[in-house]
Amino acid sequence: MVSTSTLCKNLLNVKGIVVEDANVWCDESNVQHLLIKARPHKRLQHRCPHCGCKCPGYDHHGITRRWRAMDFGGVLVEIESACPRICCPQHGVVVASVPWAFHNSGFTKDFEYSTAWLATQLNKSAVAAYMRIAWDTVGNIISRVHQDIEPDMHKRLDGLRVIGIDETSYRKGHKYLTVVVNHENNTVVWVHEGKGKAVLTLFMELLSKEQRESIKVVSADGARWITDCVNKYLPNCERCVDAFHVVEWAMEALDAVRKQSWHEARDAAQSYPKRQKAGRPKKDDQQAAEAAAAKEKAKSIKGATFALGKAPENLTETQKAKLELIQLSDNRLYRAYKLKEALRLILHMTDVEEADAALIGWVKWARHCRIPEFVELQKKIMRHREHILNTIRQQISNARIEANNNKIKLIIRRSFGFRNIQNMLDMILLVCSNINIPLPNRPAAYTA
Ligand SMILES: [Zn+2]
Repeated sequence: MVSTSTLCKNLLNVKGIVVEDANVWCDESNVQHLLIKARPHKRLQHRCPHCGCKCPGYDHHGITRRWRAMDFGGVLVEIESACPRICCPQHGVVVASVPWAFHNSGFTKDFEYSTAWLATQLNKSAVAAYMRIAWDTVGNIISRVHQDIEPDMHKRLDGLRVIGIDETSYRKGHKYLTVVVNHENNTVVWVHEGKGKAVLTLFMELLSKEQRESIKVVSADGARWITDCVNKYLPNCERCVDAFHVVEWAMEALDAVRKQSWHEARDAAQSYPKRQKAGRPKKDDQQAAEAAAAKEKAKSIKGATFALGKAPENLTETQKAKLELIQLSDNRLYRAYKLKEALRLILHMTDVEEADAALIGWVKWARHCRIPEFVELQKKIMRHREHILNTIRQQISNARIEANNNKIKLIIRRSFGFRNIQNMLDMILLVCSNINIPLPNRPAAYTA
């Protein structure tokens, strides 16, 4: 039979703790509590929480504090200990550290690691309910855990070779984050609130000379200020335009054409005079048949955004039918669709020379297509020709970039309740990296 003290020490999973007393009690909502009175081992007493130095005491007992620990089979566990203040020569008068918790936290380290691990996997209400804490608290826990696991964020910027720069919006597009990704291992290396040249400059200024020299490829959207910034700070690197941004430009042009076509088709459908007689039109009523066809055309163009946007091999039967109708009835919109598809296929090419020839061919086609949106797009493509070819040469995986973007969006949505922006940034850095959050009493880092 082990003693209560040994049992508590083992269950708490803390080294350097001396258990003095343990009591079970029940609160008014009938929840069982286990209150463990403890103190740090002598060699860990009077330590500064910032530098770890042994310091002279400032007051003898200080205040008594409590920390939440991991539940023992549903019983809510708390550690109670006196917290004397100490006088550190470097950090002044501070509350002495305890071996079971981070500075300024009301939870044990194991509790915080477990909460952070859950928060990276589950939605916020599940974490808050399971751990019996408020969601706001989860944000602070994530920041503390991230700080503990990765005290020096700057290391992520070492040895970068291929990076991607992207902007993500949140709060319904009212706020922005700038994210820098290491394409080689698909991790986020830097994230900051806001967007634009000033924010990107912050990142560039953060890099040391060696770190700047190691970067060989930068991919981003086509914005000129990114190119300017890259030319200024990373003059020897190759600038790429992410393929999905190029397809997005084509999609925007196509959608503008679709809207025009829809407006025209709708007006045409409405120009037919209203039938006087009620009921089903007669079979030989030519005008009624034409009016119905025009109405059908307008309807199919209106709802064709997805059919026009998808790759042909992924179309559903209904979407295929919509496209066929457009092919038969609206030559201009169908040509615009063909142009978009051709551009998308060029971006999938692997041979640079072949792609360049195809791109030139495409530009000629677009220049003479008599669709103003694509004539404009063709100019933009010509401006970015070199950057697009760089992307094809570097074979930067579009799918991986998009997967990463979606992951970040999901994290932002999940951490929507965070009042503190730093909590959200820490969450992104924890999830989009190859960091393992240690779980209590596991021999090696456990990954989901
Ligand atoms: Zn200190």
